[in-house]
Amino acid sequence: MIILDGKSLGIKRRAALADWVATHLERAGRPPGLTVLLAGDDAASATYVRSKEKASAKAGIRGEVVRLPSSVTENELLARIEALNVDPEVDGILVQLPLPEGLDEDVVLDAIAPSKDVDGFHPSNSGALWQQRGEVAPCTPLGVIHLLDDYGIDVQGKNALVIGRSNIVGRPMAELLLQRNATVTIAHSRTADLERQIGDADIVVAAIGRPGFVKAKTLKPGAVCIDVGINRTPEGLVGDFEWDGLDQIASAATPVPGGVGPMTIATLLHNAVCAWARHTDLPETPS
Ligand code: NDP
Repeated sequence: MIILDGKSLGIKRRAALADWVATHLERAGRPPGLTVLLAGDDAASATYVRSKEKASAKAGIRGEVVRLPSSVTENELLARIEALNVDPEVDGILVQLPLPEGLDEDVVLDAIAPSKDVDGFHPSNSGALWQQRGEVAPCTPLGVIHLLDDYGIDVQGKNALVIGRSNIVGRPMAELLLQRNATVTIAHSRTADLERQIGDADIVVAAIGRPGFVKAKTLKPGAVCIDVGINRTPEGLVGDFEWDGLDQIASAATPVPGGVGPMTIATLLHNAVCAWARHTDLPETPS
């Protein structure tokens, strides 16, 4: 079984992005700008934001983190977003989720200018993605596509099963696989006979959030396993696949940690640099 090493690939892609930024900096006239808004004191969110901050700096992106108290009102947050929307030095705006209680996620995310929406969550961007006219795709599913491409895993004509239908992962993942000509099934908590769906799939993407949910013995021999799940357990971080016995049946799998997670951060930077390229009229965007 091939271990799909997102950690190494993420480092490689971030280094290539840093080179790309350095090469185009003079023509653009200013560095890329990415602002992260972090409201509240969720410990996991603070950790994610710190790693995004560090990774941005290494890629030559001018990263800024705006830390707001959990008492921030929706209007205050919207005013911050509006100021960033019109700031010519800011290419990407990211609101770290989850938001503190009482703030409406849809209202807040919809306020981000679509051209600065590096998460690809704005309805204009998710709608455009489904019409195959998208300029930006959500970081986690796009990161999975980059990972599959880098390992030369062709999904065309394959049965791909995406377990999970969130706007952040499952739905855009299904659309990106469809755009690559996979035959896609989306499963969720009401899917009847999920085991049969798993047994028929050449590629299984699990984005559920349940430790060890997909059992190795239910997989089709040779299946490619993409584990998006992040579950904190007393034994540490684990994914949605049962890892024991996986190497006996799967042809390739992403580990947790070190698989999809690092690709998500690399893809966030990719999306920010693409936004910069569009805002500064560069003739191309990074691949
Ligand atoms: P959500 O909770 O929004 O979605 C979970 C999905 O799993 C839902 O569609 C739900 O179905 C489905 N589900 C739940 N139970 C079952 C079941 N028994 N059988 C089949 N489907 C089920 O989560 P997210 O999409 O936001 O995240 C999913 C996982 O991915 C989490 O562990 C999260 O931490 C992780 N994640 C990892 C990222 C990374 O960078 N690696 C980035 C983002 C998320 P239904 O819709 O019917 O409720």
